Amino acid sequence: MIADNLHNILSTLPQEVTLVAVSKFHPAESVREAYAAGQRIFGESRVQEISAKAPLLPPDIEWHFIGHLQTNKVAQLLRIGNLRLIHSIDSDRLLRIVDREAVKAGRTIDVLLELHVANEETKSGFSVTELEQWMAERRFETLEATHIRGVMGMATNTDDTDRIRADFRAIRSCYDRIIGKIAPDLRRFDVVSMGMSHDYPAAIDEGATMVRVGTSIFGERIY
Ligand SMILES: *Cc1c(COP(=O)(O)O)cnc(C)c1O
Repeated sequence: MIADNLHNILSTLPQEVTLVAVSKFHPAESVREAYAAGQRIFGESRVQEISAKAPLLPPDIEWHFIGHLQTNKVAQLLRIGNLRLIHSIDSDRLLRIVDREAVKAGRTIDVLLELHVANEETKSGFSVTELEQWMAERRFETLEATHIRGVMGMATNTDDTDRIRADFRAIRSCYDRIIGKIAPDLRRFDVVSMGMSHDYPAAIDEGATMVRVGTSIFGERIY
């Protein structure tokens, strides 16, 4: 079933869009099933869970961290050798801690900066204005071991498809302004991560290059 779900989704994705299979709250066995069907990129949202799961699974998996990251868990997260991308850098403070810990661990790490565009207090991240200012001030230049690969965001949790599309458009247009004008010399700044099970087709229409899909692949999560 996981293999069927995966193939159905992949058949609808444009070739240049990367699928992150979000395996949080699902056992290593489910990841193995998706792996056997060819999937290599998996997303997790809790440090404890990814730390337990990653060692049980093949080393050529590319792990992505997509959840809220607490500063006291950064060192533990960076110990996962095949952690390839942190999507959820929601403040300059967290970014500095990730950079410092990556230096200490003698590794590098790719990250996305999380944009807050949704009409919800509960979601975290930079506002569009804050991020554009941050880029204009070239705050990325002092990073030693961290490479900023792009932006990540979530749409408002609503049935209003106009609102969802407007949120995705706000994320994509912020990315376009950064790479087009504010910091056109940023290298490998090529990821726009947006869209989940219920809204990823709209996200792709609005310019996502990476989607994060859990439920539609693995089924409902049991918390
Ligand atoms: C859980 C999660 C997803 C996947 O959500 P589904 O609705 O199960 O596809 C995507 N992005 C983030 C940040 C998540 O926490």
